[in-house]
Amino acid sequence: MKNIAILCSGGDVSGMNAALKRFVDYAFDQGMRPFFVENGYEGLIDNKISAAAYSDVAGIISIGGTKIRTSRSERFKESSYRQIALENLREHGITGLVVLGGDGSFKGMQKLSEECNDIGFIGIPSTIDNDIAGTQYCLGVDTALNAIRVAIDSIRDTASSFGRAFVIEVMGRECGYLALVSALTSGAEMCLIPEVPYNLEVYKEEFLEEKEQGRSYFIAIVSEALKNTEQIVQWFEEEIAIESRMTVLGHIQRGGIPTVHDRLMAFHFVTTAIDALREGIKSTVVCYDDGMFLCKDIKDVAFKKYMIDEDLLALGKEFESPQHKQV
Ligand code: ATP
Repeated sequence: MKNIAILCSGGDVSGMNAALKRFVDYAFDQGMRPFFVENGYEGLIDNKISAAAYSDVAGIISIGGTKIRTSRSERFKESSYRQIALENLREHGITGLVVLGGDGSFKGMQKLSEECNDIGFIGIPSTIDNDIAGTQYCLGVDTALNAIRVAIDSIRDTASSFGRAFVIEVMGRECGYLALVSALTSGAEMCLIPEVPYNLEVYKEEFLEEKEQGRSYFIAIVSEALKNTEQIVQWFEEEIAIESRMTVLGHIQRGGIPTVHDRLMAFHFVTTAIDALREGIKSTVVCYDDGMFLCKDIKDVAFKKYMIDEDLLALGKEFESPQHKQV
């Protein structure tokens, strides 16, 4: 019987627990023995590896975060600790490891795979930033977008009641995906992200005209990548002459009940990963591309820059030169 293990590394996302459930269920179904590594790469070094049972995943599908915990590990960046991690996997007879994480985690996984020949490694893109090259979807993104939507809808209520501008900062590290999709789907008046050039003078002209026509409030979505949220609040006060407030959504974007989409994506990602391990892959990442789940070489994933797709950027053009809207 083949022993396979799973761990979560880097930031947690909603949908990881659904992935753990599928991992256990499908591994048994395929005649494999599933193991959990607790606490990411730290747990791999500390030998926190144990056999998983159906009872371990009962009732977790609807819970955010990850039951087996996650970590960031400085020790894992050193080869000597990775050697310990490999010995621990061997001690449990594990021949395949699934890593749920972002591109940092995949870089670590790549190093591990270069240092051994007897274990297969497969990554599942899991980050709310949706910033991994080679895949159009990362686990957790849909739940994060829905958490942002709920927050923006609530903020709109108070913005309109008081007649204020609200500048809402969303996560994404260097990537504007979350901000752009959130701005488009919440009807925001302004969206500032690194990928779309913007001109505050153009916004000013539009917003002042809209104010003349009766607009009493504004919703602006700003990506954390730009690091200018406070300046934009000031800009609204000074240039648009409207009382303004800032809301940094922060970690509420990471947690929460996973959406149906994330649960289903978790199932597909894990099924593809286990099938690949059964076939004996060495080191790869499951990607979602044009409706299909494919295994891609890690070098095409972790070491490439992610670009927001052209169709979505085309929709974002409305924020590059905002048109005057009748109010
Ligand atoms: P998120 O997108 O949520 O931040 P991530 O996987 O990109 O997830 P990182 O903190 O970048 O998160 O990486 C997670 C862990 O992967 C690190 O703490 C480290 O243990 C390992 N790792 C990252 N980069 C490397 C590297 N170049 N070599 C070895 N290990 C690495």
